[in-house]
Amino acid sequence: MIPVSEPLLNGNEKRYLAECIDSGWISSEGPFVAKFEAAFAARTGRASGVAVCNGTAALEAALYGLGVEEGDEVIIPAFTIISCAIAVLRLGARPVLVEIDPENWCMDAGLVEARITPRTKVVMPVHIFGHAVDMDPLLRLRERYGFKILEDAAEAHGAEYFSQHLGGCWVKCGAIGDATATSFYANKIVTTGEGGMVLADDPAVAARARAYRNLCFRPERRFYHTEIGYNFRMTNLQAAVGLAQVERLDEFLAIKRRIAVVYEAALRNVAGVRFMSVRPWARSVYWVYAVELDPALGLDAATVMERLKIRGVATRPFFLGLHEQPALHERGLFAGECYPHTEKAYRYGFYLPSGTTLTAELVAQVVAALREALA
Ligand SMILES: *Cc1c(COP(=O)(O)O)cnc(C)c1O
Repeated sequence: MIPVSEPLLNGNEKRYLAECIDSGWISSEGPFVAKFEAAFAARTGRASGVAVCNGTAALEAALYGLGVEEGDEVIIPAFTIISCAIAVLRLGARPVLVEIDPENWCMDAGLVEARITPRTKVVMPVHIFGHAVDMDPLLRLRERYGFKILEDAAEAHGAEYFSQHLGGCWVKCGAIGDATATSFYANKIVTTGEGGMVLADDPAVAARARAYRNLCFRPERRFYHTEIGYNFRMTNLQAAVGLAQVERLDEFLAIKRRIAVVYEAALRNVAGVRFMSVRPWARSVYWVYAVELDPALGLDAATVMERLKIRGVATRPFFLGLHEQPALHERGLFAGECYPHTEKAYRYGFYLPSGTTLTAELVAQVVAALREALA
């Protein structure tokens, strides 16, 4: 089976892990945590990083850092992982959905204004599959309405956006809004197995996220708590792997982009299959190589994915829209809402093997299998 994703762990990972074991530092108090935070924050172009145990926790800690409270509203895309909605709900706030741009599956920034109310505290653009959300319209709306922007950059390590608003230059995804949450799950470009980080420039936002990660201990009086936090700490072992991974981010990005070029060249001649069309203001990192079938083929993603599995090719489905999640309906959310682009993406989209260990020969095998699956 050609796997969907496999991490490359042949840099300094073993060496740094051995340092943890030899020194006895395996908890979150170990020195790699701060080193990894500094390295990833620098790579993203942020002043501080707060490493946490996973990306879902990072979203929650970041929202807390931005001051989200009970009764607030947070605007998120309909097409994303449920983590985005869960993080909002955990703080007693309400997720409000927007439809996606069907070309690149990212939040349609042009539809955000219609969803703003006096309760809107945060807008959360999610850079999907390595492609930037169109951030300039959100930056302009922020000036007008005064909300905060939390970027979910879990799928966009190293991705860039061309911002007219910020002076007509390429800026890094994760360095644009007021704060960023990211994930280092095993399939993310930089991985720690499980892990996440909150990134911010404002020291107050970082300090709040840092407190939330560690039970809201008060520095001046230990074991005296005036707010509720959680144990979202990252271990020194995870951070050791993370540091070795960040050192190779440019190499990983080059591999991802090479894979995308090979796929794109091969898929151009496959009728009925569309891939991510990259907007001129985005430099995608192709976190995964996503495709969407033309409904005119009369085949849905589930059928083609099954046929690929039989042919030894692993795939993953797209996100089911948040407005179609039973667990969220049960909470009285999104009743009667419908997002046709999101629904179509779920029905016809899936992603192909795209890990950093994938070779051009394997890509050719995947494309051959896909041709057969469509025949
Ligand atoms: C992976 C991912 C997350 C969640 O990260 P975990 O580490 O799995 O909790 C959040 N948002 C997006 C867009 C993701 O892809």
